[in-house]
Amino acid sequence: MSVVRAFVGVGANLGDAQTTVRQALQALGRIDGCQLGCCSSLYRSAPQDAIGPDFINAVAELHTTLDAVALMQRLQALEHAFGRVRTVRNAPRTLDLDLLLYGDSAHHDERLTLPHPRLHRRAFVLQPLAEIDASLQLPGLGPISPWLKQAADQRVELIGPA
Ligand code: ADP
Ligand code: MG
Repeated sequence: MSVVRAFVGVGANLGDAQTTVRQALQALGRIDGCQLGCCSSLYRSAPQDAIGPDFINAVAELHTTLDAVALMQRLQALEHAFGRVRTVRNAPRTLDLDLLLYGDSAHHDERLTLPHPRLHRRAFVLQPLAEIDASLQLPGLGPISPWLKQAADQRVELIGPA
């Protein structure tokens, strides 16, 4: 069975968001077929295309034997377990889990797009990703560093270790 390196973006902006993000990072490591690699620090960002309080963000590296669709299903189950209620798109949420990267896969269908379609435009994803691996290659988009520079005007504040 092959092991794939995947990255998951974790975000929360309701309730005790820092605790939710920390608990979610640990819960990712307990998914069957997933092993938790590095976790980024926690960051704070203003809501973007969204409403409500500031977001707490982090990224987790996973080593997984699940395929991308199965992993995505586990992430959605975890969102539900943390009490996320889907109302309108971009509504405030208890927990948002995005599959950012799955190995070097590029994929697009109605359920799943890889890399995550907005990853390269969001400083709150790029900064924690680059903290884990500054030399990361984004499938179809090249090295992470120019995207990070392009998003430098977005306010993202480092909080501290996860
Ligand atoms: P956001 O992408 O801003 O986090 P939502 O979480 O509200 O937005 O909605 C994302 C929708 O996009 C989900 O219904 C999900 O099926 C779909 N989707 C497609 N690709 C991905 C991906 N790589 N990671 C997470 N959701 C994805
Ligand atoms: Mg999402």
